[in-house]
Amino acid sequence: MSHGTTVFGPDPQHAYCPNCGKNVMTHTEPKLNLITWLICLLTGFWCILCCCDCTKDVDHRCSVCATYLGSYKR
Ligand SMILES: [Zn+2]
Repeated sequence: MSHGTTVFGPDPQHAYCPNCGKNVMTHTEPKLNLITWLICLLTGFWCILCCCDCTKDVDHRCSVCATYLGSYKR
């Protein structure tokens, strides 16, 4: 069991949740940042950007208690 060195990817994965005290499956949620929104507004390509993972970070949360565990950054 490894603690504190989890590297998060873009997809749900197993990770240690300190709140649950065990390994759980993470729940991912794409995080649109301000720059992404500005680009969307300026270009009108929002639907393309929202379907493209290249501009988004991903938050990982515990699927059991929703504690924030980390995020994946490109
Ligand atoms: Zn948990």
